[in-house]
Amino acid sequence: MTAPTWTNWARTVRCEPQHLIAALSEQDIVDAVLLGARRGLTVRAAGSGHSFNPLVVTDGVLVDLSGYAGIERLDRAAQRVTVRSGTSLAAVSTALERAGLALPNIGTLAEQTVAGAISTGNHGSGLKHAAFSDLVESLRLVTADGEVRELSRDATPDLLRCARTALGALGVISTVTLRCVPSFNLRTYERTEPLESLLERFEEWAGSAEHVSCSWLPWGDTVTSRLLRPTQDAPTARAGRQRYATTVSEVKSGLVGLAAGVAPTGVPRLSRLLAGRTGVPAAHVDVAHRVFTFPQPVKFVALEHALALEDVPEALRRLRGVLRRAGRYSPYSVLVRVGAGDDSPLSPAYGRTTGYVNLTVPRTVAFLELHRVIEQVLRELDGRPHWGKAHTATAEVLAPRYPAWSEFQRVRGELDPESRFTSDFVARVLGPVTPSPPAGRD
Ligand SMILES: Cc1cc2nc3c(=O)[nH]c(=O)nc-3n(C[C@H](O)[C@H](O)[C@H](O)COP(=O)(O)OP(=O)(O)OC[C@H]3O[C@@H](n4cnc5c(N)ncnc54)[C@H](O)[C@@H]3O)c2cc1C
Repeated sequence: MTAPTWTNWARTVRCEPQHLIAALSEQDIVDAVLLGARRGLTVRAAGSGHSFNPLVVTDGVLVDLSGYAGIERLDRAAQRVTVRSGTSLAAVSTALERAGLALPNIGTLAEQTVAGAISTGNHGSGLKHAAFSDLVESLRLVTADGEVRELSRDATPDLLRCARTALGALGVISTVTLRCVPSFNLRTYERTEPLESLLERFEEWAGSAEHVSCSWLPWGDTVTSRLLRPTQDAPTARAGRQRYATTVSEVKSGLVGLAAGVAPTGVPRLSRLLAGRTGVPAAHVDVAHRVFTFPQPVKFVALEHALALEDVPEALRRLRGVLRRAGRYSPYSVLVRVGAGDDSPLSPAYGRTTGYVNLTVPRTVAFLELHRVIEQVLRELDGRPHWGKAHTATAEVLAPRYPAWSEFQRVRGELDPESRFTSDFVARVLGPVTPSPPAGRD
């Protein structure tokens, strides 16, 4: 009998767990965890597999939550929605839109699951907005003993803060209750300007709209900002089509990526051509979640670090130097986003207003060296890698970057004393579990 196989979205990570269990109910999750305990196997959870590193990988029990989806409860008056952990952000947003509600801020991807997004510190952009997991009011967590624990801001604030960004290392999340806001539309503005002029007023730029981001091709001297502002205006006639403008430029980048495999030195010229053709799409208005997200058919590998906001200009200047000196040119772009600090111990935005610097490169091994160079620059600036993206950091590197690291480890030792929810990769990034007695705080 062949072992079941699990593969991530980028097709860069795969594993053959002894048991691959497609959970369809909370009881299925409990049974999977207990199976792991009985057989002495580790247990990992999988959402939609959009993380780029081996976070999900196990040779023990893999619980696939992608079929455990749907809205459990939607309270319009309280502006709260409770969803099963495998529900995609697209499904949550669509259900909320029908009820006149919305998620206040999400990243660019609609397909990822709620639990995968909160567990990895996923974020959108905007100085007033913390990481996505900051919207979690409560969640139900299946812990190593098969018990289902309800963690909430009111009753168990310390445990919830840790469980909000936990890499699947505290247990398997069953349901999540999220805070939402009244439905809103966004007007998109795009602007291209010299990179240096944006870097000189970077912090002012970061606060110049509710949601800001900019993308820059490392061999070019201009940068394109995308500014999103809430508006009372109705969606514009061609808003649906505008949504695909970003997808089209992604596909073009993908083609440059393919060309780069054959003739890397042609990348700068091709990319300048591409930047010229992309142009500046007209301002348009649409429902917020359709502005935040767009279809992303091109497969790539992404590497992203969270920096103190004020260090972003220095990071981009250093990256410009190393990327232009590197033997291979990266054909894809550098994306910068911003966010408020938050209080979840493992959130990459913990305790500081944050600038996120994201680089995407083709999946071929030819670009691995480029990763190393980029990571070195971002690490030197006290960057914290995105938990779901490519990085080589170990617990020794990461612990000093997270002021509340030991708080998370204490909770981990309390909830998972027998290391049920670990793996080689989790042990690399979080270190071993140190069993700890219940603290009695929560
Ligand atoms: C095309 C693309 C676009 C992206 N855009 C963004 C972006 O805009 N912003 C951003 O921040 N990131 C972005 N990412 C990164 C991605 O959103 C995160 O890595 C996220 O984890 C993916 O969610 P998932 O459902 O695929 O989780 P998976 O990759 O399946 O799992 C990620 C982690 O969550 C854990 N997990 C999943 N479900 C559960 C559960 N029920 N209980 C406990 N733990 C669980 C897993 O064990 C694992 O540790 C993007 C990735 C891609 C491929």
